[in-house]
Amino acid sequence: MSDCLFCKIAAKEIPSTMVYEDELVYCFKDIAPIAPVHYLVIPKEHIACAGEITAENSSVVSHIFEVIAKIAKDEGIDNGFRVITNCGEDAGQTVHHLHFHLLAGVKMGWGVDAVKPE
Ligand code: 5GP
Ligand code: ZN
Repeated sequence: MSDCLFCKIAAKEIPSTMVYEDELVYCFKDIAPIAPVHYLVIPKEHIACAGEITAENSSVVSHIFEVIAKIAKDEGIDNGFRVITNCGEDAGQTVHHLHFHLLAGVKMGWGVDAVKPE
């Protein structure tokens, strides 16, 4: 998609700090990290969010999880990590290209911080 930020990042039209790349997947550092390790793993193919995964495009998702396991090993993430994908407004998705946040390097809490209604 021509106006998609992460399509442009995957195509190297917008710079990013690369962590891993292959023909299907790109992984780069989040510009505003919320943990000592905060990477984003994206398919190079444009998929809007997890709600758009189908039998036709889902193989890249299993590949992404193989890549995440490899990155964790290669980067020495040996005390655990968390993978998050936000889909849609209630989840707070801000970039509408499927991405998996890989978070590590800190003991994490668990929960949903509900945004107060205006
Ligand atoms: P979301 O809120 O959609 O789940 O996550 C989008 C993520 O993309 C955020 O964590 C945000 O910091 C990150 N992000 C937004 N724009 C850029 C950018 O231009 N470069 C990089 N590296 N990360 C970005
Ligand atoms: Zn895109």
